[in-house]
Amino acid sequence: MISTLPITLRPHRTLLVIGGCGYIGSHMVKCLLDAGHRVVVLDDLSGGYRDALLGGELVVGDFGERTVLEALFEGRRFDGVLHFASLIQVGESVRDPALYYRSNMAKVLTLLEAMRDHQVPALVFSSSAAVYGEPHYVPIDESHPCTPINPYGMTKHVVETMLRDFAVAYGLRAVALRYFNAAGADPLGRLGERHQPETHLIPLAMQAALGTRPALQVFGRDYDTPDGTCIRDYVHVDDLADAHLLALEYLWSAGPSTSFNLGNGAGFSVQQVIDTVAAVSGVPVPVEEGARRAGDPARLVADAARARQVLGWTPRYGDLETIVRHAWRWEQLRPDARAATRRYGNEQAT
Ligand code: UDP
Repeated sequence: MISTLPITLRPHRTLLVIGGCGYIGSHMVKCLLDAGHRVVVLDDLSGGYRDALLGGELVVGDFGERTVLEALFEGRRFDGVLHFASLIQVGESVRDPALYYRSNMAKVLTLLEAMRDHQVPALVFSSSAAVYGEPHYVPIDESHPCTPINPYGMTKHVVETMLRDFAVAYGLRAVALRYFNAAGADPLGRLGERHQPETHLIPLAMQAALGTRPALQVFGRDYDTPDGTCIRDYVHVDDLADAHLLALEYLWSAGPSTSFNLGNGAGFSVQQVIDTVAAVSGVPVPVEEGARRAGDPARLVADAARARQVLGWTPRYGDLETIVRHAWRWEQLRPDARAATRRYGNEQAT
């Protein structure tokens, strides 16, 4: 089902990357450019950065505005769309569900209608392990029931449902990729994670080690896991980008709409992540003990066998140390970190 042509002989395609200035989107743009494709990025710069683009053409605009999409789709023919422009904070989605249903769901409906009307042939959509809710078993495969426990997960689940219905009714084919914990950075240190505010474990642990924030709060040590902290499946952002490219090739080879898990199938605890950050940086990570964070399952680990079998996906950076090493390089090089004051007295590793 997957094209067996060597990458140099494959026809070059034109892709629209929505949210290409964000964390995962910017790594995707890099991956597409490396594969020789033409890239147009649509980003409203609400959470992304112009300087995160290593190439391609940037259109600044809101993908939820039909007029913005019309201007793009009328002007040229796209071979596919990759959608990354999503709000990602679970806690915020509980406090302000309207914002999440508007941004992550209603705006995506506008996009799907425009793609349908202009016969854009393929969509790869960023979904999440949050569609599963509280796991009934681990590792989680794609047949695990989808019962999201927060509005963020529900928006992803509803969009996946829309994708199935649009495929049946209108022939719009799509792959939803259910990320477990996206992590790491461009190995050359050009791109990485820059969320505002940052809520993810690895950048927060590194910032605590660097002294750009006082300490990392550990959200609970009383879980039913070997060291009492939560276990997650960390997957390198470049491996996620590779999976998107394979998903596009799957759709271009007439693969039917479906969803795939993306993870390494290996779980690491919060404490193991802290230890790895300390080992890689050479600096202890100051920690504070915190309460459990609402909605955090004890263990989330992917069974990504389907992505490996059907897409031929083979993660290149499966081990946590490499993921943290790349993230650490970025954390030291990132444009805003260079200017940050190291107020909390921790030494920066050399
Ligand atoms: N975590 C933590 N302190 C933090 C941020 C995260 O202890 O400041 C824990 C969190 O409870 C979870 C794991 O680290 O068990 C990964 O959380 P993250 O927010 O990075 O990703 P999520 O699993 O929520 O997608």
